[in-house]
Amino acid sequence: KVAQAAANLGVETYVVGGYVRDLILDREKKGPKDIDFTCVGSGIELAKEVAKQFDEHVPLSVFKNFGTAMLKLEDWELEFVGARKESYRADSRKPVVETGTLQEDLERRDFTINAMAIALNAGNFGELLDPFDGLKDISKKLIRTPLEPNITFSDDPLRMLRAVRFASQLNFDIDADTFYAISQNASRLEIISGERIIVELNKIIQVEKPSYGFKLLFASKILHQFFPEMVELQGVDSVDDKSHKDNFYHTLQVLDNVCQTSDDLYLRWAAILHDIAKPATKRFNKKVGWTFHGHEDKGARMVPGIFRRLKLPMDERMKYVQKLVKLHLRPIALVKDEVTDSALRRLLFEAGEDIDDLMKLCRADVTSKNNRKVKRYLE
Ligand code: ATP
Repeated sequence: KVAQAAANLGVETYVVGGYVRDLILDREKKGPKDIDFTCVGSGIELAKEVAKQFDEHVPLSVFKNFGTAMLKLEDWELEFVGARKESYRADSRKPVVETGTLQEDLERRDFTINAMAIALNAGNFGELLDPFDGLKDISKKLIRTPLEPNITFSDDPLRMLRAVRFASQLNFDIDADTFYAISQNASRLEIISGERIIVELNKIIQVEKPSYGFKLLFASKILHQFFPEMVELQGVDSVDDKSHKDNFYHTLQVLDNVCQTSDDLYLRWAAILHDIAKPATKRFNKKVGWTFHGHEDKGARMVPGIFRRLKLPMDERMKYVQKLVKLHLRPIALVKDEVTDSALRRLLFEAGEDIDDLMKLCRADVTSKNNRKVKRYLE
């Protein structure tokens, strides 16, 4: 129907971006399904013409200021836009946007795997246009920028975080030159709003094994820009042959473990923050070695500040994370496996007055075996 509408108007039209990438990867996307169409002409006019191709009414939203339009079709959102080229000036973060060719439109995209198009025109229907070798990068499992990476990243520094996000979601490597450019441009992230950063960060956290993304963020020093508390966790101190574990890698291990048992984003945040006050409470004691007394309470007190800065919601979800950090993730011990009787007694005993909260937090996740044990213990 889109091809028919494009032919009626006589405008070159292409499917572009993430849909093409996921089609080639044969990847089923979670969440909203969207298809982006780019035409060499007016995206709004094309969308109106597409809507006419259906017998029934199709909801159409027009965003005049952006020159885009969207059609909703069952689970699908079809986005239409005219091909554009962007140029950035050193004195402004906002690009100058002008109409452009398909080639120029693909050039301004973030990665080669997102810069492919499928033609919908009578002369070349179904043909893949791949000016930057995205197909090859898919087969090599590589995230690479279409242009010189320093240009791509200084034009829009958020793309550095998107590189890590796509690497994490697709389990791809980041090309060496692209990665080097990220490490060189990391401080440019400061011009990006927290609201945009947290969207990408949460996507990195919601993959099957988020430790990979965090290692990339750490190695490229992007993490240092917006989450210094987590960077602080890294490293091992030794005195008199006594060392403590590296809390950064330990945190990532706990995070990956939690991800095996739950998709809950805020349980994942609790895992990320469960040792966050260890650097601040670290002491060396000649007899017992390294201690972190009171880190759970201090960590819980740090949660609101971290949430506020990272633009995470300051509501019940924050309190839930705070509680889990204070209890040092006890509920996770409960959700994981079948907990032994003695461990369970200890966990519930330590929860003390928080027992009701603990039970509420656990209710959804506790396995029936653990549930039975908890009940028996409480009785
Ligand atoms: P997903 O929907 O899974 O997030 P996607 O590739 O569709 O993946 P979107 O953020 O919806 O991601 O972006 C759609 C397309 O727009 C991308 O594939 C890419 O071509 C382009 N794009 C999006 N954001 C940027 C950006 N910051 N810089 C350059 N191109 C971008």
